[in-house]
Amino acid sequence: MLNVQKITAGYAAGPVIWDINLVVNPGEIVTLIGANGAGKSTIVKTISGLLRPVSGAITYNGKSIESIATSERVRMGISHVPEGRQVFAGLSVAENLRLGAYVHRHALTEEELQARIKKVCERFPILLNRMDEIVGNFSGGQQQMLAIARGLMANPNLLILDEPSLGLSPLLVSEIFALIKALRDQGLAILLSEQNARSALAISDRGYVIESGRVSISAPAHELINSSEIIDRYLGVGGVTKISSDNKKMAAQIRDLIWSESIET
Ligand code: ATP
Repeated sequence: MLNVQKITAGYAAGPVIWDINLVVNPGEIVTLIGANGAGKSTIVKTISGLLRPVSGAITYNGKSIESIATSERVRMGISHVPEGRQVFAGLSVAENLRLGAYVHRHALTEEELQARIKKVCERFPILLNRMDEIVGNFSGGQQQMLAIARGLMANPNLLILDEPSLGLSPLLVSEIFALIKALRDQGLAILLSEQNARSALAISDRGYVIESGRVSISAPAHELINSSEIIDRYLGVGGVTKISSDNKKMAAQIRDLIWSESIET
């Protein structure tokens, strides 16, 4: 589905990622793990089009995309939920969700847009009750859920999630990973950039280790999670976040907790 070939990219001062090769197949979760500043965000920004590569090629469903605009990539089915959520704080839930479908605004009737909001909110039912609330007052967990819901409004085939668990409590992290797994199980391909490597690998099919802007290891997630080298370097702290998606009672309690959180200071 996504094929990244020898991508080199960076910022004004020069490249920070070099010769990145990466593949995401339909219906799999692929995780990028690596230290702070290793280049994970730069890789996903280059895939979604926020950064232009200096060299290399990116194909999506067989089409070359490295030179086309981000909006066109979204139309083709690539949706990027950026690090730090970046929801529009002054807008309501409904307005944020509508913006998620912005690139399809000419193709969707109002009825179809409403139907899409309803469908996306099947996974986030509480959003339906808060449609008119301004999201600036929402907690970090609530904003992350909204950011993912907004990403889904573009009706993607490939969802890119940059550090979705950043700054969230362990319970919310567990809820986010359960959600990501459920999205994969319904057929979405997911590219995840995560510092919470252990939990991310626990739900992933494959992983890439990024070190100083290069892919150092690429392997099935179960191999990475059992590799002593990876355990020493990236999985030393914390246990696997338990995903009990079949435990409806616990999931409901976690959900209640998310939506009753006070505003983070
Ligand atoms: P983190 O988890 O901390 O975001 P990361 O693995 O995602 O880390 P990147 O954000 O891709 O890493 O950063 C890779 C390198 O690029 C770092 O040296 C960083 O300082 C630099 N960098 C990131 N964003 C910019 C920018 N907008 N302008 C210049 N340099 C940047």
